[in-house]
Amino acid sequence: MLDVAVVGAGPYGLSIASHLRASGIAHRIFGTPMQTWRSHMPQGMFLKSDGFASNLYEPSGTVTLARHCAEHGVPYADLGLPVSREVFADYGVAFQRRCVPNLEPVDVTGLEQEPGGFRLTLATGESLSARRVVLAVGIRHFAHMPKQLAGLPPALLSHSSQQPDLSVFAGREVVVLGAGASALDCAALLAKAGATVRLVARAPKIEFHEGPGGKTRSLLDRIRAPWSGLGPGWRSRLCTDAPLLFHAMPERFRLLVVRKHLGPAPGWWTRAMVEGKVAFHLGQTVIAAAERDGRAELTLGGADGTRTTLAADHVIAATGYRPDMAKLGFLSPSIREAIRTAEDAPVLSRNFESSVPGLYFVGLAAANSFGPVSRFAFGAGFTARRLARHLDGRWLPALARRRPMQEAVSFADAA
Ligand SMILES: Cc1cc2nc3c(=O)[nH]c(=O)nc-3n(C[C@H](O)[C@H](O)[C@H](O)COP(=O)(O)OP(=O)(O)OC[C@H]3O[C@@H](n4cnc5c(N)ncnc54)[C@H](O)[C@@H]3O)c2cc1C
Repeated sequence: MLDVAVVGAGPYGLSIASHLRASGIAHRIFGTPMQTWRSHMPQGMFLKSDGFASNLYEPSGTVTLARHCAEHGVPYADLGLPVSREVFADYGVAFQRRCVPNLEPVDVTGLEQEPGGFRLTLATGESLSARRVVLAVGIRHFAHMPKQLAGLPPALLSHSSQQPDLSVFAGREVVVLGAGASALDCAALLAKAGATVRLVARAPKIEFHEGPGGKTRSLLDRIRAPWSGLGPGWRSRLCTDAPLLFHAMPERFRLLVVRKHLGPAPGWWTRAMVEGKVAFHLGQTVIAAAERDGRAELTLGGADGTRTTLAADHVIAATGYRPDMAKLGFLSPSIREAIRTAEDAPVLSRNFESSVPGLYFVGLAAANSFGPVSRFAFGAGFTARRLARHLDGRWLPALARRRPMQEAVSFADAA
């Protein structure tokens, strides 16, 4: 029986597999590399996280985005220069080729318990047994669609994760729902592509992310709001530096922080791309949606009780992602029922283990346990180190047991 199976080849799955490989832990990893970033994010978008916080992690800490950019002649800065989706996805694929060459680019279609572990079924039809399984399935299964939109047919409604190429809407009228990075990215890219765009959000104001201020930040600014992998501020700093402290907090506190800290905030550079180019309908809630004469018609309610209608050729719900075990259709019903949850996300031990022994969750699904850092690639470093050490089961420092990486292969060679 295989020791560990990793499901998912995004930043978390790849970082974890590179640590397992370096520790000599027998494992297999399944999934299309960086699929979320390559197929479920809009072409032309930029990451909100700073360059230094947009890495995948292997034990030596040298296979960084900075190095990838240097080797490929791509402009890079730790702060202040947004990283494009394309560069990040390319970097992730190069990381995979170099550090996780054993990746099997196939989906896991079934997971059930069997004596001593789990039985996985692959899309190829193969099945295998593994003692322990790490679910690094990211965000793809968890796209959130507000129920008020249920009256619209698929031709008139999509989730932002379904629209990697927004240029198909050139010349059409599109309503984007949401106030976060996804919504503002979509709106900006739609306007750039020549669509007529209206953005509808419950928030009364769009809170754009603060720019880095980089070199101009005074010593006092840096003491008041130190920089972190999640942006400036002591709260963010605590989230990145002390995820185990977060885990030790009472559940109610953790759920509140995950809901409230780092709310919707588009990247600072999108402001110039939307102002004067996108019509904003802020402080508006979608009450109902219906098809009328082949178009989508939304009924909006304002905080003052007013009602308006808005018609469009298409509605894009950039309404985010919410972990929900019921949406992981490849899990057997008995596993789904056995996973203890809080607000539909799994309750996890300090080692990412769920209430099903041997079944681990990382990334977004772990945010209620380890804090907002788990929603970002930046959290993959802590996660990979801790989980690999736990799965290894030995308490020697990882450094003492690490097999050297094959440094002779450069990114350029690997790509
Ligand atoms: C619009 C948008 C902008 C974002 N911007 C940032 C940003 O700037 N910085 C940042 O750090 N984070 C950002 N994020 C969050 C981002 O999703 C995470 O940081 C990152 O992708 C998490 O990595 P992951 O490996 O957990 O998940 P993912 O990247 O989602 O990877 C999970 C992988 O698992 C695969 N998978 C799922 N199910 C199966 C299965 N059954 N079998 C095989 N494979 C499977 C998926 O296809 C996917 O490739 C953004 C998210 C969105 C939606």
